Amino acid sequence: MQLNTNKLTLDSSIDICDLILNEIGAYVFLKDRDRKYVYVNEITRKLFGRELEQIIGSDDSEYFDLNELSELIKNDTRVLDYGETVIEEEANTIKTTGKVRVYQSIKKPVYNNNNEIIGLLGISTDITDIYNLKEDLKKQAATDSLTGLYNRRFFLETAERIFSESGRYDNPLALIIMDIDLFKSINDSYGHPVGDVVLQFISKHISGFIRKEDVFARIGGEEFAFLLPNTHITSAQDLAEKIRISVSEQTISGEWNGTIKPKLSLGISHRRETDSSFDAVYIRADKALYTAKHKGRNRVCVNC
Ligand code: GH3
Ligand code: MG
Ligand code: MG
Repeated sequence: MQLNTNKLTLDSSIDICDLILNEIGAYVFLKDRDRKYVYVNEITRKLFGRELEQIIGSDDSEYFDLNELSELIKNDTRVLDYGETVIEEEANTIKTTGKVRVYQSIKKPVYNNNNEIIGLLGISTDITDIYNLKEDLKKQAATDSLTGLYNRRFFLETAERIFSESGRYDNPLALIIMDIDLFKSINDSYGHPVGDVVLQFISKHISGFIRKEDVFARIGGEEFAFLLPNTHITSAQDLAEKIRISVSEQTISGEWNGTIKPKLSLGISHRRETDSSFDAVYIRADKALYTAKHKGRNRVCVNC
């Protein structure tokens, strides 16, 4: 912005409204009841790639990929049909670039003298970068950095939620806890970094057995958990046995002398009607795991 004067005064020839609306750094727009644009500020014109005269009378379908479920449509409806003031994050796909941008939008109804809604005033700020950063941090907080699996904290939080849902809808829920056998001796024989490679290998190998709805996590050093929604104990037992056998058939080699043939012990439980929290299911699976170790390792034990 450049002004041909040294002093900024309110009675200068510049249009104060235009100055503010164009310098504000946010997308400012007015739409009528039919969601057609009546006004957009300069950065909105740049986003749409059109002059103001071409934008007036057009609607969002020309600029965004919209469907019935679009947040943009839903929010506009709340304002225009129900008179709400909406403050929401909106993710919109820009038609010209095909890219998704995330906006913090404030949308308010505009009334006439008869108190009828005649349009909508919107102010949207592009928060894509900060949104992506937030999502990355959320992901990091839920992930174990060595294996890329969910971590213990995320697992326990999610398990409590899935446990409640499974109780509410009376759906079966199974839990497997798995521990690598004699893992300490792998570390002792080959060193801690090789132990890390084994943890990564096993995590990756087992991920191939997991459904999208299952929660597979590293819950301790060499201890893992699988939470299996809508799964009966017999199916969980089949899966655990499949995993045990498949891992026992693997030979892990690398830049070290010798090969490693890992073995697993697994304990299984499921939700009982009388369980009041996920803890109860967890404790029984842990006991079953302890039994598997006690009976000689490399096996699956069930505690119903
Ligand atoms: P068991 O069959 O009874 O489970 O025997 P184990 O040797 O596997 O059990 P133990 O609990 O004695 O040993 C677990 C070992 O796992 C001890 C610990 O040093 C190792 N460990 C824990 N976290 C990591 C890790 O991130 N990397 C590596 N390399 N080792 C780890
Ligand atoms: Mg172990
Ligand atoms: Mg252990």
